[in-house]
Amino acid sequence: MDPIRIAIVGMGKIARDQHVPAIRGNSAFSLAATVSPHDAGLDGVPHLASLDALLHDGPAVDAIALCTPPQVRYDLAVQALGRGIHMFLEKPPGATLAEVGTLQAQADKVGVSLFAAWHSRFAAGVAPARAWLAERKIDSVSIVWREDVRVWHPGQAWIWQPGGLGVFDPGINALSIATHILPRPFFLKDATLILPDNRAAPIAADLHFRDTGGAPIHMDLDWRQTGPQSWDIAVETDAGTLKLSQGGAVLHLPGSTDHGEDVEYPGLYSRFAALIRGGRSDVDTDPLRLVADAFLRGRRETTDAFHD
Ligand code: NAP
Repeated sequence: MDPIRIAIVGMGKIARDQHVPAIRGNSAFSLAATVSPHDAGLDGVPHLASLDALLHDGPAVDAIALCTPPQVRYDLAVQALGRGIHMFLEKPPGATLAEVGTLQAQADKVGVSLFAAWHSRFAAGVAPARAWLAERKIDSVSIVWREDVRVWHPGQAWIWQPGGLGVFDPGINALSIATHILPRPFFLKDATLILPDNRAAPIAADLHFRDTGGAPIHMDLDWRQTGPQSWDIAVETDAGTLKLSQGGAVLHLPGSTDHGEDVEYPGLYSRFAALIRGGRSDVDTDPLRLVADAFLRGRRETTDAFHD
């Protein structure tokens, strides 16, 4: 079977750190081109400054991995889907829920695969955590996602702009895990969003959810963390505590700890290949819906200005 010819659009941090090695490490794909307005591209791979240039003058591609900021993703995705190109959307899949819905409808109409990728769901501890929790009664959940924005998002202006999600850019990863491993759906009860007075997106947030069985779920997001970083989910159950740490890579169960390999992006590309070969899409907007609800229902507080 011929490899799927794929272009990366948006050659920023995540494209270089994860997409390039994951594509090169998967024989189902060949990296046909890269696209970015200000990037020089990769040695030996055709590089174009825009998606228009790729579609008009570039090599033929079967698929695109869209790794731009979310605010510009819809227009690019709709253009490529219209050409019958399979689409991998980095998280979050869009800047609004409605635009993701229209992309799904268009992909279905054209008959191509649309993949809304949630990389954290492919962390090593997540599948076994989901299996273990399926049998348990959940008493409560604590999510602590605290990181240093200056380390992880230096100079990324888009992340502070409307649609950039602020601290929910990493926080949505925690929600992508929680919505996947917890056996019951959950919904927002109360939220406080803390915004620097010179920015349009929150630097911290405190959220209270409840699942349909009544279990409380507390989420603490903060971008002002220095020193050790925290990406932890602890679930209290009738059989003891499950804890996922390091973003889902490490799974602690009563009596055991498993340290997993870094398998998120290889897992995403295996899934994308299977979707394309099987003529299917995978578009789960639940994590984005919970974030949208936080912006809909949360109260805003203002804090000190943030400077990079
Ligand atoms: P980034 O470093 O700012 O990169 C974004 C890239 O998109 C830039 O290289 C920019 O190109 C390009 N771009 C912007 N508009 C474009 C357009 N119209 N056409 C083509 N390219 C365009 O951001 P990032 O950290 O990689 O994040 C990108 C997405 O991946 C976000 O949704 C984020 O949530 C997600 N993500 C990031 C991480 C992470 O650790 N950083 C992890 C997982 C997922 P120029 O620089 O050439 O202008």
